[in-house]
Order: sequence, then C-alpha cells, then structure tokens
Amino acid sequence: MELIDGNVIAASIIAELKTAVSALAGRKPCIALVRVGEDPASISYVRKKEKTAADIGLESRIILPPVSIAQTDLEKLIDDLNADPAVDGILVQSPLPKHLDERTIFRRIAPEKDVDGFHPLNLGKIAQEDPTGFVACTPAGIMELLARSGVDLAGKHVVVLGRSLIVGKPAALLALQKKAGANATVTICHSGTRDLPTLTRQADVLIAAIGRAEFVTADMVKPGAVVIDVGINRVADASKKTGYRLTGDVHFSSVAPLTEKITPVPGGVGPMTVAMLMQNTVKAFHQRSRATR
Ligand code: NAP
Repeated sequence: MELIDGNVIAASIIAELKTAVSALAGRKPCIALVRVGEDPASISYVRKKEKTAADIGLESRIILPPVSIAQTDLEKLIDDLNADPAVDGILVQSPLPKHLDERTIFRRIAPEKDVDGFHPLNLGKIAQEDPTGFVACTPAGIMELLARSGVDLAGKHVVVLGRSLIVGKPAALLALQKKAGANATVTICHSGTRDLPTLTRQADVLIAAIGRAEFVTADMVKPGAVVIDVGINRVADASKKTGYRLTGDVHFSSVAPLTEKITPVPGGVGPMTVAMLMQNTVKAFHQRSRATR
C-alpha cells in the first residue's frame, strides 16, 4: 500500500505556479475572494486562499460584504468584478448566509472568471471535453492526484460514490473523457443505488464522495484497488482538544492495507483544492490576456 500524499503534490503544483508567475512580465494574475459574514470556517478558508495566492505571487482582492447584504447588492458586486479588467478570477466563499441564493450568485460570475468552476457553462464544458473550461477544484484535484501518482485510468473501472455537482458528477465526467489519463469505464453510485458493495468491489479506482464517516469498509473494496477518499467528516472524539477528529468516507485502517494506493484524510484531496484554485486563476489570466490581445 502506498499513501498518495496530497500535501506533497499540492506543494509541487504551488511551486510550479510560483515559477510560472515570477516569469510573467507586467501585471500578475488577480483573484477576488468574496466572503460574506463572519463564519469561522469561511474566514479560515479565505485566509488560506489569500496566503497561498501571496506565496505564488498572485494579486488577491479580499471583499468582505456584511452578513446582511441583500441579494441584489451582492449581484451588483459580482457584476462590478466581472467588468473589472484587473480581476481574472472570482471566488465567492460557500456557504452564503441563508437569505442569499447561492446558485444564482454562482451563475452570475462571468464564466471566464469562474475559477471555482461552478457555473453551468463550465460544467457543460467538461461534458464537451472543451479544455477552455474551468473544472471545479475538488474534482480537478482528484484527477491531478491520480495523474501525479502514476495512475492511468485508461480502460479501468472507476466507481464514483456520490453525484453532487461539485464533486461526484464532474469527477465521473473527467474520468470518462476520451483523453490521456482518463478514458475510464465509469459507474456513479448514490443513495438510490441498489447493492452498493457489489458495484464498489468491481472498482479498480474507487472515489468516495458521500459525506458519511468511514462508510466504505474493507468488504466493499477489491484488493489492489486505488482509493480516493474525498470525504471530510467530523466524528466526536473526547480525546481531542476540539472534541472531534476528522475522518473520510473510507474506514482507513481496514481498507488501506488492501489497496495499491490510497489518500489519507486529512492530507489527501483536501490540500489539492486550494492549489487547483490557484492553477485555475493563472489559466483565467492567460485565457483573458489572449482574448484581449
Ligand atoms: P453532497 O452534496 O452531500 O453529496 C453527497 C452525495 O453522496 C449525494 O450524491 C448522495 O446521494 C450520496 N450519498 C449520500 N449518502 C449515501 C449513501 N449512504 N450511499 C450512497 N450514496 C450516498 O456532498 P459533496 O459536497 O459531494 O461532498 C461529499 C464529501 O466530500 C463530504 O464529506 C464533503 O465534506 C467532502 N468534500 C471534500 C472536499 C475536499 O476538499 N476534500 C471538497 C468538497 C467536499 P443522493 O444524490 O442520492 O442524495
């Protein structure tokens, strides 16, 4: 069994981006980070994104509207960022306060600045295998982890657990693409799937993204499979200062010995998301520069 170390792989992507950005003459790529309200998790996520952007040499603009901002005012703010030629990427930190319609806000972001990859046009571009699209950071991170760990999906049976728009569906579409590193046979499972273990046991590569702590047990995994655990779940643990520990969707201690390769939680898919956000921002910068030349 080999651990796929997301921290190491993300660090090399960040180092590559830093080299590429330092070679740019003139304006640097710029990401606008919009955080509404004071949710502690959102504060920490945005801080991490801001810090990573600074490490790479990207510009970032932090926009902190009050929690009470009206939908129309947030839409206006997005419109202004869309129109601003100095902004290449726009990220609106999720979750938004309950009175705001997140889906409408995500759709408001100009597709060419949608570095989170949540706009329907960008999801559609994955289906069309159009490389100008932006792939959501978590599924993009999964593909990058696989590629950089030497896992070629061609001809393999990939089973994706979960069909969310931000993880399961795009991950399945990416594995299905007719191109190098992908070209897999893909099965997507969800809460309506019958006899899940029979399907998961057929997986050469199992991607678990359901949000159920330690759901995937040893009897559900084929020996020699590659397992990507996307889940981040809190489980009560009185021995921890925080009162909880983080765990994935896979029961790591029983599944890991069976596998060829597996991602840990934390330290697997998680660190990749910020790296992919930065990669998308640099891509947006280049695509927008080409478009205005
Ligand atoms: P989500 O939107 O809640 O979707 C969960 C999916 O799993 C749904 O398609 C659901 O099926 C399916 N599901 C739930 N229970 C199931 C069961 N018992 N059997 C089979 N399928 C089941 O979650 P998400 O946003 O995709 O996130 C999934 C997990 O990944 C969460 O733990 C989340 O915290 C984590 N995550 C991690 C990262 C990262 O950076 N590492 C990023 C994003 C998410 P239905 O469609 O039928 O309801």
